[in-house]
Amino acid sequence: MSNQRLLTADWVIVAADRPPLANHAVLILEDRIADLGPADVLRARYPEAETVAMPNCVISPGFVDAHRHCYGVLAHGIPTAQAPKDFWAFLNEFWWPRIEDRLDHDMLRAAMDLACYEMIRSGITTFFDCLEAPNAIPDGLFVQAEVVRRWGLRAVLCFEATERVSHENGELGLRENAAFIEAMRREGGLVSGAMCHHTTFTCSDAFICKAHEMAKSLGALLHFHCAEGTYEPEQALKKWGKRTLEHYDDLGVLDETTLASQCVQLSPSEVRIVGERGIRVTTMPLSNCEVGGGIAPVPEMRQAGATVGLGTDGYVSNFFASLRGAFLIHKARLLDPSAMPAREVWQMATQDGARALALDATIGTLDPGKQADLIAIDLTDLPTPVAAHNLFDQLILWRDQVDVRHVMVAGRWLKRDYLVLNADPEQLVARTREAAQRLWGA
Ligand SMILES: [Zn+2]
Repeated sequence: MSNQRLLTADWVIVAADRPPLANHAVLILEDRIADLGPADVLRARYPEAETVAMPNCVISPGFVDAHRHCYGVLAHGIPTAQAPKDFWAFLNEFWWPRIEDRLDHDMLRAAMDLACYEMIRSGITTFFDCLEAPNAIPDGLFVQAEVVRRWGLRAVLCFEATERVSHENGELGLRENAAFIEAMRREGGLVSGAMCHHTTFTCSDAFICKAHEMAKSLGALLHFHCAEGTYEPEQALKKWGKRTLEHYDDLGVLDETTLASQCVQLSPSEVRIVGERGIRVTTMPLSNCEVGGGIAPVPEMRQAGATVGLGTDGYVSNFFASLRGAFLIHKARLLDPSAMPAREVWQMATQDGARALALDATIGTLDPGKQADLIAIDLTDLPTPVAAHNLFDQLILWRDQVDVRHVMVAGRWLKRDYLVLNADPEQLVARTREAAQRLWGA
């Protein structure tokens, strides 16, 4: 009985689509949530359990960063002769030659190490990472997985296969994903893989169809970046007289395997396709601003029935910044203060993120039977009363990563009393700076 832990808190968010519960408790047994109920009831029911009291805290399912590029941290502040003029220039003159093509295994290791630390600090318990580094395969994914395993985070990792360097390099990328998916499945740990290709402007139709077939036969997701700016839809219209998702739909590759990230420049007919095909989408409001991509029609996609997860893109890694971006940007775009209420943003950041990554049977809510992936956020110094009606607003607008008191993944503490465990932040920063210097100076 001694391995039972009873976490009690002022508030428990079991699932973001249900009202928060006051003075509740969660019983953890090994790596799972075993029971849930009013704190006094569970205390009486499990007198032997070790109680971990979290006064003035809210316990929530951990955040799911549904899309990031951990190596991106190395590019923060990289000098550029002049700011890229548009999305194509951003990729072609900056991101590809200056960053992606130069990444090696040591750089990936250093960046992933710091990224894991930052994610835990921020309350992220699961993340999806897309590695774009044509010269870091084979084995780039395995190098990253080794780091993730050490930190104890849950992750889906994939390599973005593309024919932009050569067809052979693209094939190598697909094989990297297949080998990784199978290896992680054999391992049965917290890290899994996904199939992935880049875009319709760097991959041929045959290549995209092959990636889709491989995903289907492996029972994995097929991730791709979709219409992150105006460039991809413009090219699609020129080449096929159709928009990006219309072309994908005609290729017959939109189905339960699809995980389309970004989806910024979509027409109303593409929003309809997203809903009709039930495809999974992830949105990164802050990095969409960074690249001048636009603002994704997130409320419209949700309205159409799509599952939309929230990500950082590895840009600003404090997840609360992404929460606030998603909360605010659609209100401004739609001239509607009721767009994207806080509760819906929290849902995108937790259970919809889990759904987007096809992990909703395992995580995303605190229902008994789910994995014990949770965070506790301190409410102590909030200047106004917290109630069920305002809890999500209080959390998104007035809390930050410094208020994340505890983080647990699969029953294991990764952050305890504001401190990320087994971390040496100074050393992490020093190693990342060294890797960044090497990347910048190359
Ligand atoms: Zn991305």
